[in-house]
Amino acid sequence: MSNNKKSNVFLKTNLQTMRHSCAHLLALAVKQFFPKVKFGIGPDIESGFYYDFDLSDCQKKTFEPDDLIKIEKRMKELVKKDLKFEKKKISFKEAEEMFIKMGQKYKIELINEIQEPLISCYELGDFVDLCRGPHLSSTKELGVFKLTKIAGAYWRGDEKNKMLQRIYGLAFFNQKELDDYLKLQTEAEKRDHRNLGQELELFSLNEEFGQGLPLWHPKGALLKKIIEVFVLNEYLKQGYQLVSTAHIANLNLFKKSGHWDFYRDLIYSPMQIENEEYIIKPMNCPGHLLIYKSQLHSYRDLPIRFTELGTVYRYEKSGVLHGLTRVRGFTQDDAHIFCTLEQLEKELVEIIKLTKSILKTFGFKDFKVALSIRNPKNKRKYLGSDKIWLLAEEALAKAIEKQNWVYEREEGEAVFYGPKMDIKVSDSLNRQWQISTLQVDFNLPERFDLNYIDKGGKKKRPIMLHRALLGSLERFIGLLIEHYAGAFPVWLSPVQVQIIPVGSGHIKFSQRLAKILKENNIRCEVDDLNETVSYKIRKAEKIKIPYMLVIGEKEAKSEILNVRTRGKKKIVKMKINKFIEKVLKEIEKKR
Ligand SMILES: [Zn+2]
Ligand SMILES: [Zn+2]
Repeated sequence: MSNNKKSNVFLKTNLQTMRHSCAHLLALAVKQFFPKVKFGIGPDIESGFYYDFDLSDCQKKTFEPDDLIKIEKRMKELVKKDLKFEKKKISFKEAEEMFIKMGQKYKIELINEIQEPLISCYELGDFVDLCRGPHLSSTKELGVFKLTKIAGAYWRGDEKNKMLQRIYGLAFFNQKELDDYLKLQTEAEKRDHRNLGQELELFSLNEEFGQGLPLWHPKGALLKKIIEVFVLNEYLKQGYQLVSTAHIANLNLFKKSGHWDFYRDLIYSPMQIENEEYIIKPMNCPGHLLIYKSQLHSYRDLPIRFTELGTVYRYEKSGVLHGLTRVRGFTQDDAHIFCTLEQLEKELVEIIKLTKSILKTFGFKDFKVALSIRNPKNKRKYLGSDKIWLLAEEALAKAIEKQNWVYEREEGEAVFYGPKMDIKVSDSLNRQWQISTLQVDFNLPERFDLNYIDKGGKKKRPIMLHRALLGSLERFIGLLIEHYAGAFPVWLSPVQVQIIPVGSGHIKFSQRLAKILKENNIRCEVDDLNETVSYKIRKAEKIKIPYMLVIGEKEAKSEILNVRTRGKKKIVKMKINKFIEKVLKEIEKKR
């Protein structure tokens, strides 16, 4: 495993070096067409590279799509020339003189911030870049690249600065990797939950209502409710208790919990209510702490597990908002567990088991686990004694190991009040999504003076666990839409059966059939609009309804159904009760 990991890291570094070397090559090619270009920066990025250019001193002030083709062609010609990437270390003065002579004002700005005695530059042909490296040795070592787009980008990402022109490119070791990546991109676009969400009539985002605040339409709201009811029932089976807290709460509570100090950037401005300040809640924890505190607890009561499908509101900049995955208000399947130190490991194991089983039910099989621990060199950043941190970290690690899960330890990634573990799942395109979080907390029980009475009759502090299994329901639904490309399994489909009467004479039987299905808890709709059957079938297929029943003269008389299954050509004849049995079985098995 460790060997494997090492070679992966090696490959990754190599790939980054290759991509960054492509950026230099891009700059050299641009310089040949635009001799007066000023260079910004050109890093490697995920799947490729970019370079920022200022063309304001050039004849042509902007890039056009044709330029990309020309520049890419020139890059390929330059590759064949076997140009060397040559490193040079020069004094500040030499560097300054050189960049002044070249008129590279952005580079001059950058060298002025370098503290080191010597400045590292790389030469490629007659293009010299301020750069720490590393680089490949020659252009012949470059893999396969492709320029993809032109975009505006402010110098150093600051909107007060000049807008530069950025050229993006993709780069991979070989053509197959590039083709695979492009294929994946096309597939990902088809599955984009923002488009599918509209097509499937699940949700919309309307600026008139507010940015980052999705509006759930009937089918989407139902889907959300189906998920909520399912997970809530699972939690109740596991001994959780349902609680509920309001959307606003007194600011003092969040000052006491530390959230106001640590997460103020995320919290919306307080509002004044009768001389008191209230905030719209960014987290559910403080309310649950108060519920715990409202009673005396004995060791016999523990563990206590409170769960709430709590909607919280957090400030996200409009620039980072994205469909359902980055929003300003979302519902968490939140829970807080209060237990003793002795119970900690067992509780953690139970939570992880539950997480695994629920995520599997939703169709996810591959999990990636990260354990975030303290940075041992900077203990002052964290609350709590060494002893208790080590215990908690060990308990988390043991609980993960019991699942035979491989995990990564991420030093310094813990939250200030305790270590945590995160679970990422892979979707059907093998992209990873961060979903579940489990945190061990010693801080809030302390701050809120939580107690229980131990066997000896003494007051003791419980440990608190925070866990959200699906995380944000909004984000989770975004993931589900993309994972299934909108074709949900039967148990999740907002409409499970579409009944399609052939003509107006068949509507009556269709409605009677719908009533029977509904009485059996099968979600169905009758498409009684005056349209052709083939159009209605196409429509139902487009919104990915699992079953379609076309009702004509024969079906209405014989009460034998013609069952069409989503994505299948074959039509199966079935009696009504057999069909009901089949669908109910699928719902129950959650297939
Ligand atoms: Zn470089
Ligand atoms: Zn919490």
